[in-house]
Amino acid sequence: MSRLFSGTPFELPATCDLCQKPLGTCTCPRDKDGKVVNPKQAAVRIRREKRAGKLVTVIAGLTMRDADKQTLLKQLKSTLGAGGTVTTEGDIEVQGDHRDKLVQHFTKLGYPAKPSGG
Ligand SMILES: [Zn+2]
Repeated sequence: MSRLFSGTPFELPATCDLCQKPLGTCTCPRDKDGKVVNPKQAAVRIRREKRAGKLVTVIAGLTMRDADKQTLLKQLKSTLGAGGTVTTEGDIEVQGDHRDKLVQHFTKLGYPAKPSGG
């Protein structure tokens, strides 16, 4: 079925701006409205915190929906070999001090990630 109208020079392809794949097969993180998240617009902050005497690394500012945070968390856990969780505030928390590695990791993914706090 064609949706071309006369006078329309071309049909906008339904591809993802980030990975260039058709939106049906794109696995980029989406926000809660189903739109692909543009990493450049997510001000990700990565900080260390103490929980019960142990250091955790908190990743705040992610705008993707929870299901995609879980996917990302799984990748981070296997990359870092550490445990972690998605908090009720919507942050990702990884056990141990991985701040510098995570800043690098998110920068590679295209996020303007910055360390914050101590
Ligand atoms: Zn994509």
